Amino acid sequence: MITLGIESTAHTFGVGIVRDGEIIANTKSMYSPEKGGIHPGEASEHHYANAVNTIKNALQNANLEKEEIDSIAFSQGPGIPQCLQIGGVAARSLSVSLGIPLVGVNHCVAHIEIGKKEANLDDPVTLYVAGGNSQVIGSAGGKYRVFGETLDIAIGNALDKVARKLGIPHPGGPEIEKLAEKGDKFIELPYVVKGMDFSYSGLVTKVQRELNKHEKEDLCYSFQEHAFAMLVEATERAMAHLGKDEVLLTGGVAANKRLNEMLEIMAEDRGAVARKSPMKYCMDNGAMIAYTGQKLLKSGEKTKFENSETRPDWRTEQVDIPWL
Ligand code: AMP
Ligand code: MG
Repeated sequence: MITLGIESTAHTFGVGIVRDGEIIANTKSMYSPEKGGIHPGEASEHHYANAVNTIKNALQNANLEKEEIDSIAFSQGPGIPQCLQIGGVAARSLSVSLGIPLVGVNHCVAHIEIGKKEANLDDPVTLYVAGGNSQVIGSAGGKYRVFGETLDIAIGNALDKVARKLGIPHPGGPEIEKLAEKGDKFIELPYVVKGMDFSYSGLVTKVQRELNKHEKEDLCYSFQEHAFAMLVEATERAMAHLGKDEVLLTGGVAANKRLNEMLEIMAEDRGAVARKSPMKYCMDNGAMIAYTGQKLLKSGEKTKFENSETRPDWRTEQVDIPWL
């Protein structure tokens, strides 16, 4: 089976091709804002302008003609509505014009599935940390359930907001990490964990208020220590509750070395393993959509044309996973 998968939930228009479970192409075109955060209209214009070429590049890299593709997968949600639309239209057009089945894939589930395959994990608790998502996810009762999540903004968004206040361009996470490495004074900031959930807006506001009182290196260091400890605490509790001994880290914020280190220390203390999805699959990508879509198709799932509308608010636990 050869499946072409399309990703377009946010800044990335990605196309992957999977042949019998193996990734044979993974191309992308990424929108980056000139200033500020992601502008939905600009991002979707970028996707509109680059969709056809990105699909063509993927076919060329896999050395395939479009007629050789026998199924289409697409990221149906969650994500930015305008961006999702472009991938949805591209996927529906290909499915109808080639007369081949279509399957809608949940973006978060795809990050977990590709991570499990590539990091060689069986049944992990997943910490998915990105610009628009921060969730602690574990399998239970045939679904991936969200055991903890942000009550307001995502960790990546929080990092980018702090960065903007410091005059660092988007995305700010990598530069905050560099500054944090030079900080050594621990400044007390709000640490907000409520049950299994966590919250970042108070932490961001407090950092903004402290900007002129401390070195920016110390603020970045202290921000990271607080923000990541909140994530690791919720992840550890989910592992204890579910009795799982593997943890998978994914999403763009997974690039952060300090977060990896904190997660590894926690896992080691519990006699568990912590692994990161390969960075190219932590970032948004088409391969994970093609891979998960093909798994769904092989399990007999398929999305009818009339049910293929995009789902900007589609939650992880709303998806039945046939292989769980
Ligand atoms: P995504 O939404 O998965 O594309 O991830 C993008 C987010 O990851 C942005 O908010 C970035 O600031 C953040 N990010 C990227 N690299 C790093 C890093 N080294 N440390 C922390 N955050 C990062
Ligand atoms: Mg993502």
